[in-house]
Amino acid sequence: MSVRLVIMGPQGSGKGTQAARIYQHFSVPAISTGDIFRDNIARGTELGKRAQEYTCCGELVPDEVTNAMVRERLRQPDAADGFILDGYPRNAAQVAELDVILDELGTRLDAVIQLTADRGELLERMRRRAEIEGRDDDTAEVIARRLDIYEAETAPLAQAYADRGLLVAVDGTGEIEAVTARVLDALGSRV
Ligand code: AMP
Repeated sequence: MSVRLVIMGPQGSGKGTQAARIYQHFSVPAISTGDIFRDNIARGTELGKRAQEYTCCGELVPDEVTNAMVRERLRQPDAADGFILDGYPRNAAQVAELDVILDELGTRLDAVIQLTADRGELLERMRRRAEIEGRDDDTAEVIARRLDIYEAETAPLAQAYADRGLLVAVDGTGEIEAVTARVLDALGSRV
């Protein structure tokens, strides 16, 4: 099935987990910009070195770097029949660039899923994840900074997609399976 989705949600909303489960359901690649950055950082590539200056502190990597990386990734053959973008777009300039990239590919988004959860629950989940995964950007200070950036820059994008009739907002609290069921149900006839 060909399906082109964006999944948005603050850090700790279970976005990555849900992207992976939705990807299994539709058999299209889940493309996480955060994962691509972490992979490049681990391998010590030029892109990784550049990204690390920003990811370490919870800041957004500059658009020119991120956009070029996403353009390249969406041109790969495995994304031709669909994809789930996780963690991109994250600001208004990236929304505009994604439109251009999809235009170039002669395609468009089917839906934008927004996972919602309140700040208290998010902070608790991130604290638990930090214990388990030990990510260097999961310190209390950086977590708070990332949530602030999400609220200021990324959350407003939901409105832009809602205006286009693409937004599907889903309550991200509760059991993983229940959230996936809610997402698939909410996508309904859109995909
Ligand atoms: P994530 O795993 O999605 O939380 O991403 C981890 C970090 O990667 C973020 O805090 C940013 O520094 C960087 N990053 C991921 N996606 C983007 C994006 N779309 N634009 C800019 N920076 C990003």
